[in-house]
Amino acid sequence: MAYIKIILLLIIYWTGHSGLAQSAFTFAEKIIEPGTRTYITIPVDDGEESTVIPITIFHGTQDGSTLGITAGVHGYEYPPIVAAQQLIEQIDVSQLRGTIILVQIANVPSFLHRSPFVNPIDGKNLNRAFPGSASGTLTEKIAEIITNQVIARSDFFLDIHGGDASEDLMPYAAYYDNDQQVGSSQQGKAMAVALGFDHIIRFDTNGKEYMEEEQPSLYCSAEAFKRNMPSIDIECGRLGQTNPSLAHKIEKGVLNLLHHLQMLPNKLTDDSNRKIIHIDQRAYISSTYQGIFYPAKSAGAYVVEGMKLGYITDFFGQVLDTIYADESGVILLIIGTPPVNEGETLAVIGAVEQ
Ligand SMILES: [Zn+2]
Repeated sequence: MAYIKIILLLIIYWTGHSGLAQSAFTFAEKIIEPGTRTYITIPVDDGEESTVIPITIFHGTQDGSTLGITAGVHGYEYPPIVAAQQLIEQIDVSQLRGTIILVQIANVPSFLHRSPFVNPIDGKNLNRAFPGSASGTLTEKIAEIITNQVIARSDFFLDIHGGDASEDLMPYAAYYDNDQQVGSSQQGKAMAVALGFDHIIRFDTNGKEYMEEEQPSLYCSAEAFKRNMPSIDIECGRLGQTNPSLAHKIEKGVLNLLHHLQMLPNKLTDDSNRKIIHIDQRAYISSTYQGIFYPAKSAGAYVVEGMKLGYITDFFGQVLDTIYADESGVILLIIGTPPVNEGETLAVIGAVEQ
């Protein structure tokens, strides 16, 4: 009797202090034991060309949520990729509750070929290819694997980007929002705030075609949100540069998020009462010319309507157009290198909520 009592007391102590026991996690036919970090390389092959998707599974010692994270959906956006490397060492699985599926580099062909925006093998943008197709091109196959093996296994989702080669971008966090998905929208907003960025953008998905059931989700994190999962993005990095301090900002943000989701016990900073700028509306300014763009402002600058953003010349230096802000707010993105094509986005201005 005394023996049973001791066992019972031990169980009460153990469950109270350690949470529920964790069972093994199966991923890509591998069995991953609790309290381990496992590296998995998934092969992708279209019959002619092949690549891999490197994924780290952090399987905690206690039962909990599963967080899916993708870096390198665009392989020329380096701070997310470098941050994902640092997270391998920073996430302590002995302290972890639940499971993290971290895609280290989603688009390895884009990364290794130093190719902005697209996978050079099929010319497709992975962040327009979701949910993907098992019988499609290499990019569509990558999207299908991330959809079914990462997103479908997750409870929460984070996709990390930065400014690609030509994009001068201001760091921000964003969350998906829809009136039909109040719970996942609100949880997403709280997750975005927990990352610690000054600017939080609401992706208003009401009425968006990609949210319709029969339409493709296109974007990696939109695929997660369509499944009613709280889904957020980080945008951090500019002009294709590595920028270690921005990689560190991402790394710190993810660790804060893990605390917020109660997957890690320690919180790095408690700044939930800080002043945050929320941005609900974004204005896109497009080029009506092909030519050479000379920006007059940088990302992060505050502008008022009518302020000059830059000008476009032809290939002989003749001015074709002068670009003005058509909205007051903060420049989230502006083209930071000379080439420009007709119809391309020159700048994005976020309307600042008071
Ligand atoms: Zn990107």
